[in-house]
Amino acid sequence: MHPLPLEQLLALDRRHVWHPYAALPAQGPIFPVRSARGVYLELETGERLVDGMASWWACIHGYNHPRLNQAAHAQIDRMSHVMFGGLTHQPAVQLAQRLVAWTPEPLQHVFFCDSGSVAVEVAMKLAIQYWYNRGRPQRQHFLTLRRGYHGDTFAAMAVCDPVNGMHHLFRQSLVSQYFAEAPRVGFDQPWQEEDIDSFARLLDQYQGEIAAAIFEPIVQGAGGMRFYHPEYLRRVRQLCDHYDTLLILDEIATGFGRTGKLFACEYGPVCPDILCLGKALSGGFMSLAATLTTGEISQTFAQGEAGVFMHGPTFMANPLACAVALENLNLLASYDWAERVAAIAQQLEAELAPCRDLPAVKAVRVLGAIGVVELHQPVDMAVVQPQFVAQGVWLRPFGRLIYTMPPYIIEPPQLQQITAAIATVVAGLT
Ligand SMILES: *Cc1c(COP(=O)(O)O)cnc(C)c1O
Repeated sequence: MHPLPLEQLLALDRRHVWHPYAALPAQGPIFPVRSARGVYLELETGERLVDGMASWWACIHGYNHPRLNQAAHAQIDRMSHVMFGGLTHQPAVQLAQRLVAWTPEPLQHVFFCDSGSVAVEVAMKLAIQYWYNRGRPQRQHFLTLRRGYHGDTFAAMAVCDPVNGMHHLFRQSLVSQYFAEAPRVGFDQPWQEEDIDSFARLLDQYQGEIAAAIFEPIVQGAGGMRFYHPEYLRRVRQLCDHYDTLLILDEIATGFGRTGKLFACEYGPVCPDILCLGKALSGGFMSLAATLTTGEISQTFAQGEAGVFMHGPTFMANPLACAVALENLNLLASYDWAERVAAIAQQLEAELAPCRDLPAVKAVRVLGAIGVVELHQPVDMAVVQPQFVAQGVWLRPFGRLIYTMPPYIIEPPQLQQITAAIATVVAGLT
């Protein structure tokens, strides 16, 4: 591949290439990245940006990590891919063993796929087929929360916030699901029992048709960056047990230490019946996701009508992705990540606190390596993004939210560059 001249690269990008949640041609500037190393993105234009996004929560150990590169090279020389029907391999089996060991004890079986949205689809299909296997085929609906985010494919989209997700556009194609009010009590506020009422009422009313409740534990991510009370999660687990409904936890954003626990469900602690993982699983190296289930669920499939679980992606358990993910988890196990995440939390808390006094700011909140500045008004990305780039940092706000979730390897001066840029940009907003 010969690199195109910069002008031509950007012109062709505008002419032919979709970007996430974008129009064509894309509105606002698009920045070309040449390479990335550690916490830095290096642009084709020569600037070096501290990455405050970890490429959407995924790149927890920074870019171009020598150990991940080494794992990928070694696996490429054996095979980068092979079908998973009737075949198996070292990377998939060892990664599954590791995921089972790290997640709560009842989760025993791992279904690999290639993206978070598909891991959610798999979880939802597993829940429906499970009830079918148990002679309860009327249980085909899902109960979830407003302000949630679970992915962009149809079943996943149907359990995203109906307003943010613009469900009315897809009315004829989208299954309508049940939505409880988003939790109001914050992570460290005093618990109030009314917070669970909306969820409890819906579950009571529709118990006979609900296959599973599906939740992001503790952190509602892309739907609003909100942190809710662990008691809420405990009550959800109790209510699901009481009504004999499955609980799916979507830890695609929260998994692997981001919130200060290895998995956010440990804040309960609660154990889901089905767990979705993705994003940081491969350290942001390549797309990989997984859905874990309990033995109680998996064991019903052999006797069910289909006799099998009806899903099997072409690139299931891609060996290259699994090998890199396994090394990423080895890396995570090799240092005190909890201490690092706690240090990031402490620095974010200290350095973002002054933003609370700025007129544009509604709230500032920090949990683990997640720092959020919520504004009164939506930001104009086309204006704000170049301001961040001019200060040498990469952030991608959405709506009324400016937030950072940096790689865990970030050093204090680099993180300070991010928080200072946030403070400066937010101070300039009215
Ligand atoms: C990002 C995300 C997904 C979707 O993952 P993709 O890999 O983008 O398909 C699902 N659930 C949560 C909580 C996420 O943050």
